[in-house]
Amino acid sequence: MLRQYELVDRVLAYDPDADEDLLNRAYVFSIQAHGSQLRASGDPYFSHPIEVAGILTELKLDAETIATGILHDTIEDTVATTEQIERLFGANVARLVDGVTKLSKIEAQTENERAAENLRKFLLAMSDDIRVLLVKLADRLHNMRTLHFIKSDEKRRRIARETMDIYAPLAERIGLYGFMDELQALSFKHLEPEGYDSIVKRLELLRAGGGDMVARITSGIKLLLGQSGIEADVRGREKRPFSIWKKMQDRRMAFENLPDVMAFRVVVPDTAGAYRALGIIHQRWPAVPGRFKDFISTPKRNGYRSLHTTVMHSERVRIEIQIRTAEMDREAEFGLAAHWAYKQGDDGAPARHAYPWLRDLLEILEQAATPEELLEHTRLAMFQDQVFAFTPKGELIQLPAGACPVDFAYAVHTDLGDTCVGSKVNGRVVPLRTPLANGDQVEILRSKAQHPDPLWEGFVVSVKARSAVRRFVRQQQRSQQLKMGRTLYDEVVARLKLPLSDDAVTAGLARLKLADRNALYLALARATVSDTAVLEAVLPGSTANLKTKKRGKAGPRAPISIRGLTPGVAFQLADCCHPIPGDRIVGVACPGTGIEVHGIDCANLADPGEGEWLDLHWGEETESAVARLFAVVHNQPGSLAALTAILAHHGANIVNLTLKERDRAFHGFVVDIEVDDLAHLTNIIAALRATQAVVSVERVKA
Ligand code: MN
Repeated sequence: MLRQYELVDRVLAYDPDADEDLLNRAYVFSIQAHGSQLRASGDPYFSHPIEVAGILTELKLDAETIATGILHDTIEDTVATTEQIERLFGANVARLVDGVTKLSKIEAQTENERAAENLRKFLLAMSDDIRVLLVKLADRLHNMRTLHFIKSDEKRRRIARETMDIYAPLAERIGLYGFMDELQALSFKHLEPEGYDSIVKRLELLRAGGGDMVARITSGIKLLLGQSGIEADVRGREKRPFSIWKKMQDRRMAFENLPDVMAFRVVVPDTAGAYRALGIIHQRWPAVPGRFKDFISTPKRNGYRSLHTTVMHSERVRIEIQIRTAEMDREAEFGLAAHWAYKQGDDGAPARHAYPWLRDLLEILEQAATPEELLEHTRLAMFQDQVFAFTPKGELIQLPAGACPVDFAYAVHTDLGDTCVGSKVNGRVVPLRTPLANGDQVEILRSKAQHPDPLWEGFVVSVKARSAVRRFVRQQQRSQQLKMGRTLYDEVVARLKLPLSDDAVTAGLARLKLADRNALYLALARATVSDTAVLEAVLPGSTANLKTKKRGKAGPRAPISIRGLTPGVAFQLADCCHPIPGDRIVGVACPGTGIEVHGIDCANLADPGEGEWLDLHWGEETESAVARLFAVVHNQPGSLAALTAILAHHGANIVNLTLKERDRAFHGFVVDIEVDDLAHLTNIIAALRATQAVVSVERVKA
C-alpha cells in the first residue's frame, strides 16, 4: 500500500501546486472512516482506496480527483455522509465522491447485452464530470487486480463479466487503452480460465523454442532505424492472451495459424520520422498485405493516432508494429486524461473543472460511429438527451430528457402508466409532472380506478406516454360523444310520437350518408347534422307539420372555451341566463344545438326533462361573453348617454339595448354587453350604481 508521503510526492511530481493539505487530510480521514474493515484479501479495507488513488496518479489527475479516489468508498461503506465530506473537503470533492457512489449502485445488474448497453450509457450520462468515471474505472481496475482473493466462483465470474461488458468498453471509449487492456486481460483470465491457460502455455512453448525473440527483434529494429539516423525508442511485447483469444475467435483461427503474437512499438521524435521509419521497416521486411493502417493522417474517431503495420520478420514469424510520436504514445496510453493533464500545464494552473475536457470528449464520442472503434453504435449525443432512472427492483429505465414519473410508468408497462396516481422519487412523494434526474429511483403509486389524465399530455415527453394518453382521451371523447348523441337522438325521434322501424332508420342513415347509428349519434353530438335533418331522413315530410323548437343561432360571438366539455361537441351559451366567465356553469344536452351552457342558478335548469347536467368550467382561451343587465335610469336628458359612457369607459361593448319599461319618471332598459368575466361585470355594475343617472341595475340571469 502506498504510504501517505509517497502518494503526495507522486502528485507533487507532476503538479507542484497541488493541494497537499487536501491529500493528507483525505488520506487520514479515509483510514479512520474505514477503520478495521477488511478486504477479501485480508488487507485492511483502506488499502483499496489508497491504491485507487495511486492508479489515478498515473493519469496525472488533479488533487481533487486523487482525493476523490481516496474517499470514494466512504459514503457507501462507512458512516461518513456527503455533508461531512463537503464540510471537510469542499463542494467539488463531495460532488465527485457522490457521483462515484451513485455509479456504484449499478453493479450486479447485467443480465443481458441490452442491460449492459444501457448501463454503459448510464455510466456516461451520470459522469457529467468525467473525473467521476475515471475514479470509477480506477476503482474497478484495482478490484480486478485483487479479484482472485474472492472465494465465490460465481461472484468472481459475475464481476469479471461486468468488467468485460461494461468497464473495458468504457475505458476504450475514452481512449484509456492501458486500462482497457488490463481490464480485459484480467476479466478474460476469470471468464475463460481454460482458454487463458492454453494460450499462456502455448506462448511459453513458443518462447522456449525461439529464445527471447521479443528482445532480439526489438534490438534489431532499433539498430536498423539507428543506421538511418532515426533515434527511436522501441518496445516489444507478447500480445496479451485476451487479444490473441479475440483474434482467434474473430478470424476463426487455430492458435498454430496465428503467428503474430508479438507486437512492437516504435516511438520516434516527430511525425516525419514516423513515416520514414515505416519506409525503412517496409524495405527491410515485406509488409503483410491489407494490414497497413495510417491513423496519423486519418486519426480514429476517439483521437487515436499511430501507424500500424504487420511485416514478415522471418519465414514463420509475423510481427505487428505500431509507429508513433511520443505525444501520440502518451495520448494512446492515457487517452484524454493525458490530453487534459497536458492542457492543464499550459497556463500553469490546474483546471478548476473538467468541463472543457468533457466537451472535447463528448465531441469525439459523438463522432465515433464505426463498430471497429466502438463496441457501441449508439451515439453519445443521443444520451445527452436522455435520463436514466431505476425501478425499486434496480432495473434501469432509459427515458428522454425531461421525462417525468408518468413517462417512467409507461416505459415500464402500459398498464402501470394507465393506472398511475402518484409517484415517489428517491423515497419522497413528488408530483407526477416532476422531471426525473439521472440515477433517480422511481416508485409508481397506482390505483385500479385511475385512467390516463388528459392533463398529462401537457407534460409527458416520451412517445409511448404521449400516445397512450392521446389514445385514451380520444376513446373517452368518442364514448362521451356517443352517449350525448344517443340522448339527443332519443329526444328527436320522440317528437314523431310513433314508433320508428329499423328499416326506417336504416333508410334514414342512407339518406344522411352515415354508416351506422353510432355515426348518427356522433353527428348529432357534434351538431354536424340538425335534428330536423334527422327527422326528414327517417320519416320524409315529417317536419312540415311538426313544431320544432326555435333556437338562437349556434356558436358564440367571441372565442369561448369550456373545460369539461368533450372537444368537438357543439355548444352555445344559454340565452336565458347569459353566463359569463367566473359564473359557475353546467351544460345541458339539447337536440339540434348540442350543449347549452347555463349558469348554475339559472331558473330554467329547474325544468325537468332537460337531460343530465354536465359539470363544466370556463377554459383559459375564453375572451369574452355576453351578460344581460336590466338598468333603470331617470327619464331625463343625458341619462342614457351617462350609462353608455360608463360602459364604454369600462371597455364593455354594447351588443343589444332594448327599452322595456317606460313611465314618466323612469326608463327600464335591457342591456346586453360583452364582458371579460365576472370581475369585469361586477366592476361595471358598481360603476353604474354609483352614477346619478342610474336608479338601479341588476344582472338578468333567467
Ligand atoms: Mn471501491
